[in-house]
Amino acid sequence: MVKKQEIKTWKDIAVGGIVPSGTGEHFNTGGWRSKVPVWKKENCIQCLTCWAFCPDNAIHLVDGAKGRERADFDYDKCKGCGICPEECPVNGKITKALVATNPKITPSTGHDTPGFDEKAAILFVGIKEAKEKFNIK
Ligand code: SF4
Ligand code: SF4
Repeated sequence: MVKKQEIKTWKDIAVGGIVPSGTGEHFNTGGWRSKVPVWKKENCIQCLTCWAFCPDNAIHLVDGAKGRERADFDYDKCKGCGICPEECPVNGKITKALVATNPKITPSTGHDTPGFDEKAAILFVGIKEAKEKFNIK
């Protein structure tokens, strides 16, 4: 016999419908993505803007020579929302410089635009390219 599904009532829901924060720690969201951020450590200025803006728990901080620094992406958690390449100031600066030659360029679409990849701190690439070129599963 199929067990009847238990349905929560309003009495079981937190006052105001508030959802607790940090629940992403309990499950992986990496399977959702269709695009993948790739960190270019050599161009990163460690401003931690990406860490502050990431809506998931996909960028961790570690102790570095100058204090707290970002580590590589946690691809189990990264859902490929594209916020980090958009907010990265290094990507923004390059985009600003290239917009005269490519008016459609954005910090997350700049990948493969001549002059972008060498200087960017975060590339935003398709899943196939991430696997083949950057060895990201
Ligand atoms: S794309 Fe960037 S901002 Fe979005 S979940 Fe992944 S690491 Fe976080
Ligand atoms: S990847 Fe960009 S936003 Fe993130 S710490 Fe480096 S420079 Fe800052």
